[in-house]
Amino acid sequence: MLWRGKIIKDLIELAEWLVIIMYFWALLSPATLEYFAPPNQEIEYQVGNPRPIYFYDVDPSSCTEKDRVEIEAALEYLSKNTGVKFVRLPYPIASSIGGIGYRCTAPSIKSALGEESHGLFIFSIFIFTWSNVRIPSGHLARDIILHETLHAMGLGHNNDPQSIMYPYVTGNDYIEDRLIKFISRSYYKNPLAYLNIIPRNIVVVTFFILFIRANRE
Ligand SMILES: [Zn+2]
Repeated sequence: MLWRGKIIKDLIELAEWLVIIMYFWALLSPATLEYFAPPNQEIEYQVGNPRPIYFYDVDPSSCTEKDRVEIEAALEYLSKNTGVKFVRLPYPIASSIGGIGYRCTAPSIKSALGEESHGLFIFSIFIFTWSNVRIPSGHLARDIILHETLHAMGLGHNNDPQSIMYPYVTGNDYIEDRLIKFISRSYYKNPLAYLNIIPRNIVVVTFFILFIRANRE
């Protein structure tokens, strides 16, 4: 069964190369968002990490079943309009591999709004990223979920009161056309974004394993 061993070895080698390409791509990807942005549009973005597929999870200890249904409905709307897919993984897998993690805060007047936080941790050449969305349990409005999710996807605020990305609550619970076109073009139809399907943390961990293996040989 030597040939079979060789095929497996070749496949592992191919996977290793893909991972290495993805690692460097993940460092370069913010530039593509700018490159693919339609001209003359006042859309701000933060560190862009365009992907046609996002992994996410919902914390079952803080979010109720109803909250989860609301989150899924909002993501379905976003997906239907832009083409970007959202794949739910069991908690906390998605958030630990760099996907979007949804947490719920206790319902209170103070926490009527959601918040999104993302960050990165750099260790040597390894970059770990995370993206957490906090939304008030039981008060989930679609505009809050959409607004925070778009932050997690890399979009920033703009100063158009009609926009879902306006920093203050306006009650708009739909995404305006130009933003839909922007997301569709930069994320879903951008061929380079497909290199970013695998969350960066998976790439980092695989890279780390390869690094150890190479040092051992
Ligand atoms: Zn915001």
